[in-house]
Amino acid sequence: MTNNCYALVITPHPDDAEYGIAGTVAKWVSEGKEVVYAVCTNGNKGTSDPNMKSERLAEIRKQEQQAAARVLGVKEVVFLHLEDQALEDTPEFRKQIVRLIRTYKPEVMATSDPYRRYIWHRDHRITGQVVLDAAFPYARDHLAYPDLLEAGLMPHKVKEVLLWGAENPNHFSDISDTYDIKMKALHCHKSQVGQHPAGWEDLMKQRYESLAEGKGFKMAEAFYKVDIWW
Ligand SMILES: [Zn+2]
Repeated sequence: MTNNCYALVITPHPDDAEYGIAGTVAKWVSEGKEVVYAVCTNGNKGTSDPNMKSERLAEIRKQEQQAAARVLGVKEVVFLHLEDQALEDTPEFRKQIVRLIRTYKPEVMATSDPYRRYIWHRDHRITGQVVLDAAFPYARDHLAYPDLLEAGLMPHKVKEVLLWGAENPNHFSDISDTYDIKMKALHCHKSQVGQHPAGWEDLMKQRYESLAEGKGFKMAEAFYKVDIWW
């Protein structure tokens, strides 16, 4: 029995992965590739409802994330249960991500681009940076965490990282056939999409169509792709 997966998706909050990469995830799953999600924070501040309490919201969002993952055929969802809006680039957080990489040994990782400028959720910026650092060099080097090695978590080389939310994407994934599944998964996040203004779905559709312009397919998710050669 192995934990190995093709792709390990690290999402700052429940729902980010559905916005960023769910169409690509559904495509991978349809090709027989195994995908694991890790959700960093509990999302317990993501509401404008004055009557909503943090504990209840965290539980709702966990269930919404599990439902979305089921729609997409994600193999496993790991919850790190960190506090929403409180992520920091700490040795502990980095080690948690290294532990996930060494456990699931992904070829591909995906997360939010840390280098989007100006207004960008702090948790997105921190998660992106920590994932890149964890993938290289910390997960690779056997001397980095002797205790993880002792626990049987061997070094692992990730081949590429896909960053969603990139200002200058260099990789476009064809989601023409999986857009509907992506939207179905996104709708599982009722506590979030319920707050959107009318017409948001049309705007999203237009955006994915415009990202595919000139690419030879109808709809695309866009990423900055980082290849790790060494
Ligand atoms: Zn988020």
